Amino acid sequence: MPQKIPQKIKSMRKKIEKMKQEAFFLVEKAKALGELEEVRVKYLGRAGMVTQSLKGVAQLTAKYRPEAGRLANTLKRELEATLREKYDNLRSEEEEKKLRIDISMPGVSVPLGSVHPVAQVMKEISQIFMRLGFKVVEGPEVETDYYNFTALNIPEGHPSRETFQTFYLDTGELLRSQTSPVQIRVMEEEKPPLRIIAPGKVFRPDATDASHSFMFHQVEGLAVDKNVSFADLKGTLSMFVREMFGEKVRMRFRPHFFPFTEPSAEVDISCIICGGTGCRVCSFKGWLEILGAGMVDPNVFGAVKYNPEVWQGFAFGMGVERIAMLKYGITDIRLFFENDVRFLRQF
Ligand SMILES: [Zn+2]
Repeated sequence: MPQKIPQKIKSMRKKIEKMKQEAFFLVEKAKALGELEEVRVKYLGRAGMVTQSLKGVAQLTAKYRPEAGRLANTLKRELEATLREKYDNLRSEEEEKKLRIDISMPGVSVPLGSVHPVAQVMKEISQIFMRLGFKVVEGPEVETDYYNFTALNIPEGHPSRETFQTFYLDTGELLRSQTSPVQIRVMEEEKPPLRIIAPGKVFRPDATDASHSFMFHQVEGLAVDKNVSFADLKGTLSMFVREMFGEKVRMRFRPHFFPFTEPSAEVDISCIICGGTGCRVCSFKGWLEILGAGMVDPNVFGAVKYNPEVWQGFAFGMGVERIAMLKYGITDIRLFFENDVRFLRQF
């Protein structure tokens, strides 16, 4: 015969069951973490209903204590579990809301910088010569007298030292006045044949004006091989001029003197502004000087122990700012170094 459940236990179970339904309903209804916290305090806080029921167990007679304790504890555990679950859900919902992206909102623009025009043109020049098999090499900006002058056939007392004046350091070293020292350094290390270009900064103690700067950039080139002639130099440079300034531009060589090449020439292109008819940019001559070039002087080969009876070479050098000014129609070299973004943004 089943044991008869006392009336007192029945009403305890009923009371706990009612509390449970209410509490679960309130948890379910909570829409925010704040509301959920209110539910927790209402039932599980220090003066909460479940807490109070547990306290009340002690006052019961021994007969009802175990069952009352079990009921209240079970409710406490179930309520804690459902609160924790709801808390996690609400929390991730709120996080998600923060992260949700409104694709109709205007974006935040990130200003992009651009490559400096001098760097752009230097790269463009280098790429043209790289297509012709030249290798890009670099060397130190602080040089010795030997590399900047003597090895380039400009011994002490040579009048050309005047043309290539530069800045001297207390150590006796100097800031290179051309990138040609790099050619000497490469020839000392490597055996011919070779084809190199040396882009980089050079320094001259010139007073700054629209066409002069105490620092500017050069790209110098050198090719050494057997049976290299002036025709190869001309062919290489005409290819460069066409690539850089377009098919229509003409080129001419004027005899000139450089200490490190013999024979030497200055190279002009037909004015890219007026096409040769004469304008202010070309001083009404129709031609613009763009670079110097020539066949490597045997004395330069002597300095690096190449036999000039076996090897010949040609060399050329150009100012990058000059090329950039002609290409973009810029009339003042100082614009390159003033870092005015209104100027730089245009490239
Ligand atoms: Zn012109």
